[in-house]
Amino acid sequence: MTRICIAGAGFSGAVIARKLAEAGIASLVIDERSHVAGNCHTERDPRTGVLVHRYGPHIFHTSDAEVWAYVNRFAEMVPYVNRVKATVRGRVYSLPINLHTINQFFGTAMGPEQARRFLAARARTDIEDPQTFEEQALRFVGKEIYRAFFEGYTRKQWGCEPSELPASILKRLPLRFNYDDNYFDHRWQAMPRHGYTALIARILDHPLIETRLRCRYEELEEGFGHTFYSGPIDRFFNWRAGRLGYRTLDFEAERGEGDMQGCAVMNHPDRDTPWTRISEHKHFAPWEAGEITGSIRFREYARACGADDIPYYPIRLVEEKAMLRRYEEMAAEVPGVTFVGRLGTYSYIDMDVTIRRALDVADVYLERQRAAA
Ligand code: UDP
Repeated sequence: MTRICIAGAGFSGAVIARKLAEAGIASLVIDERSHVAGNCHTERDPRTGVLVHRYGPHIFHTSDAEVWAYVNRFAEMVPYVNRVKATVRGRVYSLPINLHTINQFFGTAMGPEQARRFLAARARTDIEDPQTFEEQALRFVGKEIYRAFFEGYTRKQWGCEPSELPASILKRLPLRFNYDDNYFDHRWQAMPRHGYTALIARILDHPLIETRLRCRYEELEEGFGHTFYSGPIDRFFNWRAGRLGYRTLDFEAERGEGDMQGCAVMNHPDRDTPWTRISEHKHFAPWEAGEITGSIRFREYARACGADDIPYYPIRLVEEKAMLRRYEEMAAEVPGVTFVGRLGTYSYIDMDVTIRRALDVADVYLERQRAAA
């Protein structure tokens, strides 16, 4: 039986390879990088010993019981709650927008119902069905909070006006009228004790999976029974219908001693601060932070993704969506290839959703194989 090709050793590729392997199907997983885990890759900073998320912070959170059980099969998941702060015009605030933020920002001491009424009076309640990021913000938090926390950050992060972006981007963040400052609403939230690279390496650790690093899809000569492709869908087709827009990130490292900022993530929404956030990575592994004397933090800058840059965030504006539809039509014409993951489907999905979809895609494939047999 010819084996399966899986392009990309991130969560999508690893989960599919494992599912096929457990059904007795062999695969070759390739990745052009020198490590597995894609943009979730973690490694020790050689100078400080801090476990660094090389391509930016990744916090695992899910409400999907099957996905939660799945990651726990391959790693010890240490409970971790993401608590983000924001520095706005020289003051520090709690995020996501909660009762503390509202009281800090307006210099008040309101209770939940009072704050709800207070914001409702400032909100654009005439916007019945918000379509854009800006409408969503104005509808629920009003212009003061929108301008302070979202407008500048979003312009820097996405390189366009919030009025051009879909409301779905802001819907990622909760708005709370209590003092709960947990960034996520999901049932489970944790960090893999030994990092994401160790977790994904364990998923790939199966006799029917061969992992080949520093290998480009275009270099492969072997014939395969099927391909699961988690690279950028536009690249697969040699950008024939144009380049899908992505944002890429630049990270500027700064090393120091002890505790440099007192928290893992500090957002910087001010428009005249060029970075979007600063992450101090020892706080992502609080169980070992006490033993590490040095520290490292990263300023994060977003910009348009050029041909040689690493794509991070799909932009998905109107123009991109039309282009994506053309690529999806082309993809439907290529029978032996399934496109998966953030880049393969050009979607802004978190790790848990990526795993969910990978499990489902592998199930569909296995069903078809069984039906054909
Ligand atoms: N956002 C913002 N201000 C913040 C945090 C987030 O305006 O302080 C907006 C911004 O547009 C961002 C989106 O909300 O892209 C989603 O934020 P999230 O923290 O989920 O982004 P990620 O961690 O995926 O980069």
